[in-house]
Order: sequence, then C-alpha cells, then structure tokens
Amino acid sequence: MSWEENVRKVVPYVPGEQPKSSEVIKLNTNENPYPPSPLVAKALKDYDAGLLRKYPDTQATELTDELAKTYGLEKENIFVGIGSDDVLSLAFLTYFNSGKPVIFPDITYSFYDVWAELYRIPYETKELDADFTIRKEDYLCENGGVVIANPNAPTGVELPLEVIEEIVAFNKDRVVIVDEAYVDFGARSAVSLIPEHDNLLVVQTFSKSRALAGIRIGMAFGQKKIIDFLKDVKFSFNSYTLNPLTIAVGAAALRDDAYFKEITAKTVKTRERMKKELKELGFSFADSKTNFVFARHESHSAEEIYAFLRERNIFVRHFKKPERINDHLRISVGTEEETDKLIIALKELIK
Ligand SMILES: *Cc1c(COP(=O)(O)O)cnc(C)c1O
Repeated sequence: MSWEENVRKVVPYVPGEQPKSSEVIKLNTNENPYPPSPLVAKALKDYDAGLLRKYPDTQATELTDELAKTYGLEKENIFVGIGSDDVLSLAFLTYFNSGKPVIFPDITYSFYDVWAELYRIPYETKELDADFTIRKEDYLCENGGVVIANPNAPTGVELPLEVIEEIVAFNKDRVVIVDEAYVDFGARSAVSLIPEHDNLLVVQTFSKSRALAGIRIGMAFGQKKIIDFLKDVKFSFNSYTLNPLTIAVGAAALRDDAYFKEITAKTVKTRERMKKELKELGFSFADSKTNFVFARHESHSAEEIYAFLRERNIFVRHFKKPERINDHLRISVGTEEETDKLIIALKELIK
C-alpha cells in the first residue's frame, strides 16, 4: 500500500485570475475599483517596523474595538481572521459536527463544498428557483447546519431579512451562517438579528466594500457563546493570525466612515447604470444588490463574450460549472471609466 492512499485528497477552490499586466480592466474578482481610505496609506507609512519584533496581539484589540464601535456590538461578539475565507473555514470546522448534512444552495460561493469535503462534513445542496431565488421552504427541514450567502454569489440576489430570520428561527438547534461579503452594496444585514438568536453567525469581509482584498481581514459577529467556540478552534490551530500591520490598517479603514460611504455609493450608482446599459444590449440578469452583475445574453454565448472581452484586456468571470450557469458571466462593477470601456467593447460585439 502506498502512503498516497492515506492522503487527505481535496479538489481545491479555484480563485479568479490575477493578471500581472496593469493594462487589464479587472472585472473578474469583485475587488473594489477604488483604493482604500487615505487613512490606510497613512497607517502604512507611519508604521514602526520595530513593532514586528514581537508576536501580535492575539485578540487584535485595536481592530475589534473599532469593529465594535462601527457595528454597535461588544468585543465579545466579534471574531477576526485572515479574510472571511479563513473565518468561514474555521466556522465549518467548529459548528458542523453533527454528522447530519449541512445545507446550502446549489449555486453559491464555490468554496462551501470545498470546505465540507476537506473536513468530511456531509452536505446537501438546495436548488435555486429559475430566477435564482433561494426557496425558503428548502431550509425549513432537518439538517446539520445552514450556510447562506446574502446577497448570494455569484447571482447577486438578496434574500429579504425577514426570510433570513425565519430560517434562523426554525433552525434554532443548529448553526446558521450568513455570509455577507457583499451586504454593504445595498442589502440588509442580519447583524440586527444577533441579540435574538444564539445560533446565528454573520460573516463579513474587508475585501470588497472596504477595498482591502490584499490585506486579508474577515470577521464574524454573533453572541458570545457562538464566538467563544470559534475562538477555541482558532486557538487550537494558530494563535497568531492577523499581524500587527494588518490590525493597524483595518482599524484605520474603519475610522474613515465617510470615505467608505462615498466609494460604496459610487459603486452602487455605477452598478445601476451598468444594469441599464446591459439591458439595452440584450442582457438579462436577476436584480443585483452587490458589486457585480450576473448576466446572460439573448444571442451571444457567455464563452464568446468572455473571449471577446479578454482579447480587449477586459477580464470577467465565467463559471463553466454547474451547467445551469455556464451561459452566464459575472461582471464586477468597476469605475465609471472602466464601465464605459466595457460597454463600448460589448457594443462592438453586439451590434
Ligand atoms: C469574496 C467572498 C468571500 C471571501 O472573501 P475574503 O477575501 O476571504 O474575505 C467570502 N464569501 C463570498 C460569498 C465572497 O464573494
């Protein structure tokens, strides 16, 4: 018998491409098209390299203090990690230990099934409606836990907060994770449900709305009990996740709420214009509350549009699987100028 037979084999998640060229208009990974707050640049410039001699603050106090202020929570309600991917992965490991299948939509963030496979957590996917809506009834059943991205990715569709609450309330004997990576672009957050529901974990990130995908900060919000279990697993894994520079940068970003609101409003405005122009060009899509639009065209295939745009240095995301979405493109909302270029290129193809 070879040692290979006993290896924990996994099929990894495939992130969107990061081209080296700065010529590329990058609309393929939902990054923010604007730079982070000027306070972030200042925090980096003023950082004392001597501080890196010591291990970081395991509680990331400077950052969690700012998060508590920003979200109207106590520090004990907050967990931070290396991007929300780190937080979500630890959450899967921590809460989904019943042996019963965890449930999430068939079309959603494609990391969920990767973590379930990695940790040997049984799971079942629930089919979205034809219009990509999550069917509430599917989540009112016996299960080992629930994971919902809201708004969902890559569809962009928001599930009303009332429905989220019903799902959380029904599943009171297991954990419900709500992944709010895109919530700041116009959806309603489940953070307000935390005081009433001890089984709810809300996960957010600095990667999209705060323009800090590169610094890697994600956070989870919940009642003290659920957060403490997550911390126990984290501290059984790696005490020092966020480094002191990251902590300083994250806190600085949170101190500039005006800038955050400004760039978020710009993206929402551009998104609405982009929807209008895409519609005029013959695209259809479910209404997006995120910083991307998930669209298909009435006569040109996704593959063709993808290749055409790519030749013009405009990168968008095309998922070949599942089959149900392989004729869709996920197009991130860029700056006004980038959106102009996208529309001009599309007009060249679609006459
Ligand atoms: C981008 C994204 C994440 C992960 O973001 P991080 O950069 O790891 O914080 C998590 N969930 C969804 C649905 C996302 O789109």
